Amino acid sequence: MNEQLTVGIIGAGTMGMGIAQVAARAGHRVRLYDARPGAIAPAMEALGATLGKLAAKGKITADEAATWIGGIQPVQELNGLADCGLLIEAVVEDLAIKKLLFSELDRLAAPETVLASNTSSLSITAIASACQRAQRVVGLHFFNPAAVMPLVEVVPGLLSDADIVQRMHTLMVQWGKTPVICKDTPGFIVNRVARPFYGESLRIFEEGIASIAEIDQALKSEGGFRMGPFELMDLIGNDVNFAVTTSVWKAFFHEPRYKPSLVQQRQVESGRLGRKSGHGFYDHSGKEPVAFQKMEPALARKITQRVLAMLINEAADALFLRIASREDLDLAMTKGVNYPKGLLAWADEQGAAHWAGVLDELRNEYGEERYRVSPLLRRMARQRGRFY
Ligand code: NAD
Repeated sequence: MNEQLTVGIIGAGTMGMGIAQVAARAGHRVRLYDARPGAIAPAMEALGATLGKLAAKGKITADEAATWIGGIQPVQELNGLADCGLLIEAVVEDLAIKKLLFSELDRLAAPETVLASNTSSLSITAIASACQRAQRVVGLHFFNPAAVMPLVEVVPGLLSDADIVQRMHTLMVQWGKTPVICKDTPGFIVNRVARPFYGESLRIFEEGIASIAEIDQALKSEGGFRMGPFELMDLIGNDVNFAVTTSVWKAFFHEPRYKPSLVQQRQVESGRLGRKSGHGFYDHSGKEPVAFQKMEPALARKITQRVLAMLINEAADALFLRIASREDLDLAMTKGVNYPKGLLAWADEQGAAHWAGVLDELRNEYGEERYRVSPLLRRMARQRGRFY
């Protein structure tokens, strides 16, 4: 696969436009299709304006802006994608709609064309089941904004060809991305391993151990995270974040570690969705800036250790279940959600026994399955082993 490859994008929304930009920037001819009449023109205009601003700031040249925009050709019919060697779907997150679309793409595309889905939560294997060519269907999960975020999770379905997966990995590197390969499991890497960042922070708040602002402050100052969990939930949108948690929890047959939070559910029910609604866990109307929290160092440490132990346990468990390699697990969290360090590398700093100890204390205190130590972390603690 090289610059000669024509890339088709289905869905001219947030993600489709970002991926189209990335493919055009890599030198491909891009075809863009959207089922909603009139969806493409404003999306292309918005992309033109964004690139124009980048050119005005000197981040790209005016020539580059013009070439990239010129490289994206809207098509009116799905059949207009027939000459593409790679088709990337970024339509609404609905399995029935995606399966119908994939069966149509399977029918119209040349036999060697690779079909990819940008789904965040659906099974690639289930989507591929709509196609005769299930072996040429993969997940290419970009992060928002796709033009900026380096991570792409490359997800083989159960029947995917290893060779196609490798070619997609290589192509993503050519596109300037950081690809990781992960198994077709709910949440892939990032949306699974990151769950406790929100869930455990909500639980700490629910128990009255600390305020929202204190928990955010602790994870930023003591943990080195760029944003606190409540700031991040307000940015993502509490409705979206709650829906992702609920979907991962259901997809894992109600695994207690991923149980959604009633505190967040009430937030959603009240319409306090976050920045987009002007109010979430914080007031975003601009009237009250978030005050810096002075807090006891011991409290900051207690909060950070608890959230970090849960995150490390999640990463260890994903490695235990061979969801991805240790390197890819760490890359996913640093490149996909800007964690200051990979969780497994972080675990090595204090050692597995320390983190298993934090979790054992929580398990003794609460008696909940949520705090059970991953068998791999337990084994490493016993053997004084290291992830690296
Ligand atoms: P969006 O709502 O911004 O855009 C979806 C576009 O698809 C719309 O323009 C819509 O008209 C079009 N569409 C819907 N059904 C279609 C069909 N059958 N054929 C062709 N076009 C159709 O959505 P989005 O946020 O860009 O998300 C798209 C996909 O990417 C989803 O699967 C989502 O889970 C995934 N994703 C989203 C994010 C994110 O942060 N937004 C991140 C990673 C992955």
